Amino acid sequence: MNRIKLLRAVKRVVIKIGSSVISHREEGGSNLVQGLNRNMVRHYSRQVKKLVDVGYEVALVSSGAVMAGRSRLGLDRENLSIPEKQACAAVGQSALMHSYEKKFEKQGLMVGQILLGNDDLENRKRYLNAKNTIDALLSRGVIPIINENDSVTVDEIKIGDNDTLSATVACLANAQLLIILSDVPGLFTRDPGRPAVRGEEPAKLISHVERVTPEIEKLAGKSRNLVTVGGMYTKVLAAKKTMSFGVPALVVDGLDKKVLEKVFAGEEVGTLFYSSDGKIKDRKHWIAHTLKPIGKIIVDMGARKAIAERGKSLLPAGVTGVDGKFEFGNCVRILDENQKEFARGLVNYSSGEMDRIKGMKTASVRGVVGPNFYEEVVHRDDLVVL
Ligand code: GLU
Repeated sequence: MNRIKLLRAVKRVVIKIGSSVISHREEGGSNLVQGLNRNMVRHYSRQVKKLVDVGYEVALVSSGAVMAGRSRLGLDRENLSIPEKQACAAVGQSALMHSYEKKFEKQGLMVGQILLGNDDLENRKRYLNAKNTIDALLSRGVIPIINENDSVTVDEIKIGDNDTLSATVACLANAQLLIILSDVPGLFTRDPGRPAVRGEEPAKLISHVERVTPEIEKLAGKSRNLVTVGGMYTKVLAAKKTMSFGVPALVVDGLDKKVLEKVFAGEEVGTLFYSSDGKIKDRKHWIAHTLKPIGKIIVDMGARKAIAERGKSLLPAGVTGVDGKFEFGNCVRILDENQKEFARGLVNYSSGEMDRIKGMKTASVRGVVGPNFYEEVVHRDDLVVL
């Protein structure tokens, strides 16, 4: 993959800064947090300034609120309660922004804070509002600094990790590149922290991933760290998300102070997730990746073929089963006869109505549902094949 060529198309870039990149570490241990590393914040303010000076539009997604709050409140232990974590986020977020504001100001850059939650991304209107705010900031040369609204969201309804958030932001902001600054240099052929067993090849960095296959997801494993939330696994899922939107994602070592310079010089650092195909449109992306599906619709083989191979809408005649409770306009999973999800879409009928009209020919459906009649259960414009 020619990275120089890829970079030529980049004007707007979203950079995710992980907690581990901007935190101090205790000597010898990788898990204990010692608070915000202001030198790193200063370092990245300079790096961003360089990018802005050569014409890039830069938005940051920064973690570190909980980490900064933990150390300020002296809550450096595991198993914090939800209110304790939220208190950390509240205290830490302002400390974090204070630091960004001061360091960026020194570079002559203004910053603007945006705190987002799942609700903002799931609601089309709020999603567009967030997009407009980011546009408005960038067009005025302001650097948006985005984080999850951690102080008021509980775990069950959280986006949960800033890798996922940064992917959503990259897509909604129409960025041409997402850079994830991590404390590891990218994705490896196996866990680089594990010593090789006899005869095993050393762990090698994978420089380019064209498709996030289940094997790639497995390679990513899960995080074992108290500082970072996601680990490589959420990075790979984030990359999968941006790739389906046609946006390349690059996971690089944010502790390497020269890393952004290397990236923009086209050097083969980190792992690039990119494929030139597989791009889906904005709205479809929102359906596939942002909305949380509620309920399931099971369809027969004929309907599966029509949807997956011929790009057709889903009609009542093809529906064989309904699972869960949903309303008009909800996002549902669409499963084949083997219970395998192959598509998602916005439904035109509630689950109750669906139950009554499943399997029916269009002409009979009208008689059953009356004036709220729709020919399609899910129109193809509202449907994404996964
Ligand atoms: N939003 C969290 C914070 O600022 C971090 C989530 C993450 O690191 O992925 O502390």
